[in-house]
Amino acid sequence: MVDPIGDGEVAHNYVGGGWREANGGESLDVENPATGEQVGSVAFSSADDEDEAIALANEAFEEWSTTAVEERIQPLFRLKALLEEHQESLAEVLVTEHGKTKAEAMGEIRRGIENVEVACGIPTMMQAGHLPHAAPNIDETAVRQPLGTVVAVTPFNFPAMIPLWFLPYAVATGNTFVLKPSERDPFTANRIASLVDEAGFPDGVVNVVHGGPDTVNRLITHDGIEAVSFVGSTPIAQHVYETAAGAGKRVQAQGGAKNHVVVSANADLQFAAEQTCSSAFANAGQRCLANPVAVVEDEVYDEFAERLVAEAKAMEIGPGLEESTDMGPLVSGPHRDSVLEYVETGVEEGGELLLDGREQDVPASGYHLGATIFGDVDPDATIAREEIFGPVLALIRAEDFDDALSLVNRSQFGNAASLFTSDGGEARRFRLEIDAGNVGVNVGTAAAMAFFHFGGDKDSFFGDLHAQGDDAVRFYTDETVFIERWPDN
Ligand code: NAD
Repeated sequence: MVDPIGDGEVAHNYVGGGWREANGGESLDVENPATGEQVGSVAFSSADDEDEAIALANEAFEEWSTTAVEERIQPLFRLKALLEEHQESLAEVLVTEHGKTKAEAMGEIRRGIENVEVACGIPTMMQAGHLPHAAPNIDETAVRQPLGTVVAVTPFNFPAMIPLWFLPYAVATGNTFVLKPSERDPFTANRIASLVDEAGFPDGVVNVVHGGPDTVNRLITHDGIEAVSFVGSTPIAQHVYETAAGAGKRVQAQGGAKNHVVVSANADLQFAAEQTCSSAFANAGQRCLANPVAVVEDEVYDEFAERLVAEAKAMEIGPGLEESTDMGPLVSGPHRDSVLEYVETGVEEGGELLLDGREQDVPASGYHLGATIFGDVDPDATIAREEIFGPVLALIRAEDFDDALSLVNRSQFGNAASLFTSDGGEARRFRLEIDAGNVGVNVGTAAAMAFFHFGGDKDSFFGDLHAQGDDAVRFYTDETVFIERWPDN
């Protein structure tokens, strides 16, 4: 057996209940973003490796899909306990390859565990309904049945939580599962796979296959798979949606975002500033639920901006494993360069630099960048419209509440939006009129608990059924209705 992250520090595949070398020939270095040092590498899979993984998952499906549901959830209960037991060491692996702070990593693993907990309720969630006397002498029963082998393709920014949006529901409902994690931080997925192994799932029920775009494109069209769950940037989400659906697969594809927070004239401004700062800069802004645009009513704009800048300035920037760190580095050098380009574009397009992240005190090594806040940004400016995925916040002045609502709804994206207000009428209008999948009121980051579904609107989502909760159960099952008539005795 090959060690998942052994001495050679190569991330291997986890297939059919064992560790196997990937034979695609290509590999990618994995770096610690806090230092820029290489911590390992990931070997990409060949088409044969993928075929083998899917064949073993297909084989495992036969028995797993007919295993009693009560038995199917036992390894999930053990996985929950193991994730809790190893939460700290898993968080350290995650921080080392991703860069976020340890507190953020612990939080994301907790959100992942929540999904395991919810999926343990599958014996109830999977029930679909029975109606005696549905028609004269006819009883009808709806059942949910697993699909087969399903694939999840996940992004770099939540390497523990996002695979756990899918894995627990997919296997609890009786499917077998193949994960293609981000190639940028593959070791977290492998650590989770080693806990899956310890939890005692039968061989082939959960598999991890590493690779880049070629692996994704082969997996999502493979004859041996039934459904694809994807999370990543909008162009790739759209590509995966169209390609997999074209090959006859069921698809849910979550894309990128550019979320807004609205600060009403009657909001608690200090609270709104603290929450906006945390929402925009947690995870160094690399979150699909970050709010990197704040639309502020003119009347309170100056005071809010002053409080927000003070909050952001007080953040300590450094390695994620140091306890005093509030914001860790960006994931890679090229990604930091792309964020820096956006900062330059923001200046060129006339935004007022209220806080310049390039001039803040940050460690010399690694891919750190301070928080940047632009004031009086034109709603049509690039930095107000495009996803930057870094610690850059644009403040936009709104004439009044109506103006703020229309500025938010102009966005091409619709993942999330939040309002700070003390007026119930405004809150109601916001809930009803904002075109986004996750709508928060007096909440900086509108992230639903695992028993509610999670997904956006507009260019932030392609498909019908979202991740988490009931939607996940419906996504991973086919509904069949039995219609029965029996003669009376
Ligand atoms: P990405 O789109 O670059 O990569 C995501 C996955 O797609 C990876 O596994 C990658 O290997 C694969 N991929 C990349 N290029 C591909 C191609 N050409 N063909 C097929 N597969 C390809 O995304 P990322 O940089 O890892 O993650 C950040 C993005 O994810 C942001 O846009 C963010 O908003 C989004 N995201 C969205 C949500 C959500 O719930 N909507 C959650 C987290 C992240």
